[in-house]
Amino acid sequence: MEDYGKGVARWCPGCGGHSILTTVQRVCKDMQYEPEKTVVVSGIGCSGRFPHYMGTYGFHGLHGRAFPVASGVKFRRPDLNVFVVTGDGDCCSIGAAHWVHAIRYNMKMVALLFDNGIYGLTKKQTSPTSPLGTHSNTHPRGSVLPPINPIQTTLGLANVSFVAQTVDWNSAHLYATVRKAAEHPGLAFVRIVQRCPAFMRDLYGDIAVNPKNLILLSHENGINLKPKARKAFGRVIEHDPSNIHKAREHAEINNGIPIGLLYQNTDNARYDEYGAHNLGMGVEEKKQNLESLLDQYSTSNSV
Ligand code: SF4
Repeated sequence: MEDYGKGVARWCPGCGGHSILTTVQRVCKDMQYEPEKTVVVSGIGCSGRFPHYMGTYGFHGLHGRAFPVASGVKFRRPDLNVFVVTGDGDCCSIGAAHWVHAIRYNMKMVALLFDNGIYGLTKKQTSPTSPLGTHSNTHPRGSVLPPINPIQTTLGLANVSFVAQTVDWNSAHLYATVRKAAEHPGLAFVRIVQRCPAFMRDLYGDIAVNPKNLILLSHENGINLKPKARKAFGRVIEHDPSNIHKAREHAEINNGIPIGLLYQNTDNARYDEYGAHNLGMGVEEKKQNLESLLDQYSTSNSV
């Protein structure tokens, strides 16, 4: 366990990546994940550096391709703890097709979307989540298209089983969210609203300074904070994470940032279970296994 935290992160001072790294390392330690049984897969962008700093196995791959690599790892080695680290450009632009199918495959892994609303590594180009009017090197007069809402998009995908949102600057909520995601039996998609002081200083500056702009989604089955920590929030909304229709409504809130567990369903079909059952089986056994899994999943509430 001591191996976690050996790398020295080379992100800008004040970057939200630092707190996310510390949090994921804490969760891995607390869940007693062995570093040699843990794999972190990333694409390209500032977030892509993440595997270098974890002290686990890692794969820093091609732009937008973190999901298929991680899916391959999990399919063949279901015993490993798998994390996907991806940015808003990596996931929501060039990697969008893989994002859609990874959600549908629902293999047990934690997917962390570092969303800072900009391409930071290449020094400020408009990303798919940049707010309308963002001034960047590609749109010096302001971006002209409405952004993708990654939470809303994920909630609309087939077989979605876990969607949560948190922010890099609230360490208690960030930890509770990553922990809940790691415990989920399926693909846990977490959008982390991330500060980029180098290129998007104004985007979340006010919100980060004034926690009253954060809206806490709370429920006994959700991500809960101690009573003292809850006082910091401007609003607390009771939200049952089994209600996907309400989750979609909350995902649209735009007069603050709603954070918490928006949706969870632990009964969805998982492609890694199918793969794990098949390993080492003969043809007849595989056929019977498929039939039993189809029976098992036929009662689940896939969306
Ligand atoms: Fe972090 Fe932005 Fe610097 Fe990238 S450019 S390391 S996201 S602060």
